[in-house]
Amino acid sequence: MIARLLATLTLVTTPLALSVTATGAEPKPLRALLITGGCCHDYPAQKEVLSSGVSKRINVQWTIVHDPRTGTTGKIPLYEKANWADGYDIVVHNECFADEKEVSWQEQILKPHREGVPAVVVHCSMHCYRAPSDEWFKFCGVTSHRHGSHFAYPMKLQKADHPIVKGLPPTWQTEKEELYHIEKVWPTATPLASGYSHETKKDEVNVWINTYGQGRVFGTTLGHYNHTMESPWFLDTLARGMLWACGKLDDDGKPLPGYGPAPAAKP
Ligand SMILES: [Zn+2]
Repeated sequence: MIARLLATLTLVTTPLALSVTATGAEPKPLRALLITGGCCHDYPAQKEVLSSGVSKRINVQWTIVHDPRTGTTGKIPLYEKANWADGYDIVVHNECFADEKEVSWQEQILKPHREGVPAVVVHCSMHCYRAPSDEWFKFCGVTSHRHGSHFAYPMKLQKADHPIVKGLPPTWQTEKEELYHIEKVWPTATPLASGYSHETKKDEVNVWINTYGQGRVFGTTLGHYNHTMESPWFLDTLARGMLWACGKLDDDGKPLPGYGPAPAAKP
């Protein structure tokens, strides 16, 4: 008998004591859907690190869908719904199901984003849903089929004046990570930062923004290791990337009024 696998659904709400904006209006938290699970990564820990770290930085209410399967195959049941992204302001993809290769399944996932639902794509999400089509890469903003061995590497900013990375040091060093090889940056994408691979002997874009149809996308291939995800610059750029994708980030990289962290969630 085949055990039935059920995705766990968790609703994490921010504290009730929300701040009030200068206009007196109650700020509305961003309704964020985090989809996670699949091969090769510590997703049970990462969903906590990512959601709690971002909540210390911006006003967000999380719904977390964690598919418990740990292989490269698995159709997350949520995606079977026609309008699976309804009710959310943004979807954060941190999943790893490379061997779900049907074009129709890929299309089911992409449709809401193409129609305007903002997205964040993290690490193995770039290697998911390898249908015989470039559409997934077009959505992500970069084409990548492989990664190198695991090593610490130097990073540098590619567009230091962009609000998502404004104020970050121009160069810095990661801890041990898994750098993805980037074969193509799509014309709709703008690189924000890159890491140098001593294996490919070039800078591999690893933080960027993209536009897919009507939707904005923030992407990073960082995040193999939990220690990377725990780093302040990872969480800072991810939180800002979410705000940017939703049109809630100002030109200086600060949240628009009402979208900063709820008082009780500040570090
Ligand atoms: Zn990885």
